[in-house]
Amino acid sequence: MKITIIGTGYVGLVTGACLAELGNDVFCLDVDQRKIDLLNNGGIPIHEPGLEEVVARNRAAGRIQFSTDVAASVAHGQLQFIAVGTPPDEDGSADLQYVLAAARNIGRHMDGFKVIVDKSTVPVGTADRVAAALQDELGKRGDAAAGSEFAVVSNPEFLKEGAAVEDFMRPDRIVIGHGDSPAGLRARDLMKVLYAPFNRNHERTYWMDVRSAEFTKYAANAMLATRISFMNELANLADRVGADIEAVRHGIGSDPRIGHSFLYAGAGYGGSCFPKDVQALERTARQYDQELLILRAVEAVNDRQKQVLGRKVVQRFGADLAGKRFAVWGLAFKPNTDDMREAPSRVLLRELIERGASVAVYDPVAMEEARRVLALDLAPEQLEKIDFKAAPMDALHDAEALVIVTEWKAFRSPDFDQIKARLKNPVIIDGRNLFDPAQMTALGVEYHGIGRSVLT
Ligand code: NAD
Repeated sequence: MKITIIGTGYVGLVTGACLAELGNDVFCLDVDQRKIDLLNNGGIPIHEPGLEEVVARNRAAGRIQFSTDVAASVAHGQLQFIAVGTPPDEDGSADLQYVLAAARNIGRHMDGFKVIVDKSTVPVGTADRVAAALQDELGKRGDAAAGSEFAVVSNPEFLKEGAAVEDFMRPDRIVIGHGDSPAGLRARDLMKVLYAPFNRNHERTYWMDVRSAEFTKYAANAMLATRISFMNELANLADRVGADIEAVRHGIGSDPRIGHSFLYAGAGYGGSCFPKDVQALERTARQYDQELLILRAVEAVNDRQKQVLGRKVVQRFGADLAGKRFAVWGLAFKPNTDDMREAPSRVLLRELIERGASVAVYDPVAMEEARRVLALDLAPEQLEKIDFKAAPMDALHDAEALVIVTEWKAFRSPDFDQIKARLKNPVIIDGRNLFDPAQMTALGVEYHGIGRSVLT
């Protein structure tokens, strides 16, 4: 099928590359000329395991192209996927300007039946706004195409950054919301053909109305964020009462109604999705005169949890950190990505530096992106306090402690003798509970996890 993807970011590029891999003819559009030039020169703007190979293979086969040409992008695909960003507005609600701009572009250039597929995460009711914006542009046209038909479907994306290609190719589920008009049913049939390769062994598609599909994405992210904040809140209590949240996690996760996944205490959730989607769902509720009390708490707990590592440093080393140096492993908001959006490391670095410390940092892939975002977060003289190191062990020299923020695999079995030899004090403050406290004690490491201060 001929497909256009509008927005070539994490979701758009992965969607485009994976649909091309299945034999479709994909046109990826972006407004960012640098991104398009990079892709046309064989580069990849994001770190995502396996993506580079899929993009290269399909570029070579002529199944995927990258362009900033809006008219050509609209002409190309009968299916027009909108995968642009929906960042939080000033009041926390989703900013739909990019989505609506994409819809208007389609209305300006379309010539014949189109299916607009909302893949961006958008509040309930957005499909109607997309249809209205598109129709408005169509109405301004004096040509024969002004009467062109279209349908807007909702097809929210559930991929996880760091495993996006795998998630897209082997989805748990595909959610598609469509209308019941003739155009809506025609759109449903086209979506059925597009996603048929994913449903060969068993049906993974959940067909529903558009609003329910839009809501499903927010409900999923809100539930996942709730599990994280729930565990973080219990972990903070575990620290007080002298219990080990990891033992508690195993103890409750074995109940199939609860399950083990996504039940980890840590340094708070970040990324481009959970923070903004929880906020946006709350704002939607307020528009309908309802208050989502649980989600307000989820957000408040997370804001506090992002400060947990800074708090643990202060508890151990005092409020004045002037002249002290700390090593930080992990900057990305989670492993296997270079995404620094809302990363807890940003909160920690700011706090350490504002308290007078200097910091040596290492991340396997997010160093370049970290330099970019930290330059926005911090004043130039604060940025100078950050030493970007080429290897994890290089960050440890003369540091008072090692603070672990992201659970990269490479951090899971480090050489503890080397760590002890390089650090000024053998102290590890572990925001991801990577190690066993008893083993750390046996190795002579003073270990501070999250919710693991067991009384002995
Ligand atoms: P992103 O910022 O990585 O990419 C968005 C791209 O859209 C950018 O390259 C931008 O230049 C481009 N763009 C903006 N306006 C445009 C326009 N009018 N025409 C063409 N291109 C335009 O964002 P992302 O992380 O891919 O997220 C996209 C959407 O998918 C968001 O709604 C997000 O919530 C949702 N989502 C993201 C993830 C994730 O893990 N990142 C997962 C599921 C859903």
